[in-house]
Amino acid sequence: MALFLETSTVLLRRIKDIRPFTAKRHRVKGKWATTLPKHPPTRLALQHFDATYSAQLGDLWPSVRVALLSERKYGALLNNFCHNPDLEELQAQGCRDFINSGEANRSYLMFSSASFKQGSDLGAEEDSSRVSTVTDEEEEKVESPVRLSPNIKCLVFPRGDVTRFKPARPDKFGLLSYYLMDAASVLPSLALDVQANHTVLDLCAAPGGKALALLQTQSARFLCLNDSSVSQTSRLKRVLHSYAPKELLTDDKLRITSVDGTMWGEIERNSFDRVLVDVPCTTDRHSLMEDDNNMFSRSRVGERRSLPRLQEELLLAGIIAACPGGEVLYSTCTLCPSQNLGVVERAVQLAEENHGIRLQVVSLRPLVRMFRNTFHFAPDLHLGEMVVPHLAANFGPIYMCKIRRLT
Ligand code: SAM
Repeated sequence: MALFLETSTVLLRRIKDIRPFTAKRHRVKGKWATTLPKHPPTRLALQHFDATYSAQLGDLWPSVRVALLSERKYGALLNNFCHNPDLEELQAQGCRDFINSGEANRSYLMFSSASFKQGSDLGAEEDSSRVSTVTDEEEEKVESPVRLSPNIKCLVFPRGDVTRFKPARPDKFGLLSYYLMDAASVLPSLALDVQANHTVLDLCAAPGGKALALLQTQSARFLCLNDSSVSQTSRLKRVLHSYAPKELLTDDKLRITSVDGTMWGEIERNSFDRVLVDVPCTTDRHSLMEDDNNMFSRSRVGERRSLPRLQEELLLAGIIAACPGGEVLYSTCTLCPSQNLGVVERAVQLAEENHGIRLQVVSLRPLVRMFRNTFHFAPDLHLGEMVVPHLAANFGPIYMCKIRRLT
């Protein structure tokens, strides 16, 4: 014991001796420390989530919390347009394509041969809740097949393996071999089920991960990418130029706009076969990890509180932009119910009451069955599906809900 104390004292003295020699640029300046916020946004976000998500998720919250506070896991969306897409090298490192793996294909064969009846018609519901609960018995009524394009590949390291991807390399034309993104962020693009000859609108498209996934399928006849932020739109253009060949970025195949998505109804109504509405939200992971540009900073309280209203307007605009028979995919990267199912419920109600549009929720259970070995999905969500972060598969959160226009 005496020897231990003695050694500790010597060590402490040595540390003290070292301190004055710390390079100046590495020392913390007192005056900077005083300007640090007393309540950093990341801490405010954690307090808020502890209060709300513990009630919402119950026993699940502690494990979701620890995953949210740990490094997220990425997926490498392979770029088909790159001449050396690094597929073999990634596979040699132990990665597998979760989209076209045996597990996903087997599930696809299983449910694609089932007969799919009409979904629940929300517009016809007398019920004040408007939105039907998708129970196991009802499931069959509202499913529709998800036809996966063989062209889209997203590689992930196995469960529990937290190896990081190396930066993607350019080919001789400067196109990068893969795009790193939360692998769960590919799901909304898959759920949109874009087929040959479809026209597609991505209402909030920047920085462009989901748009790139849509481009990889090479299914859409025409893709319109919009983002209201001019700087974000420039970022989107840079991403596209780094991943897609010039032939694909022509006016007849792709249009990039920068308008307020809530006003889309004034521009184009009843037009698109598929609409992706991936709205701005509290971005839970970012809010917990980064103080910069954080929705929980004191100066953004008003903006944060008005998010559900903005999301509702964007979803309604997306619904109006879709053609009758067309489908809309609403998505966020938050666990917050008022930004997820709450928004869907209100937008559906407004579409019917103010615009006479009847809608039907399309179950995404087939997608969940396909990918339940890769992602953790929230149990018992009465509307839509949600990937919840988990240490063994630290993807998400991603919430998705698919709606079909009947009229
Ligand atoms: N879909 C994108 C992707 O996969 O990379 C991410 C979209 S991000 C969650 C939300 C985007 O919505 C931001 O780029 C933001 O600039 C944009 N946005 C915010 N308000 C908008 C509005 N009123 N109309 C259109 N876009 C908006």
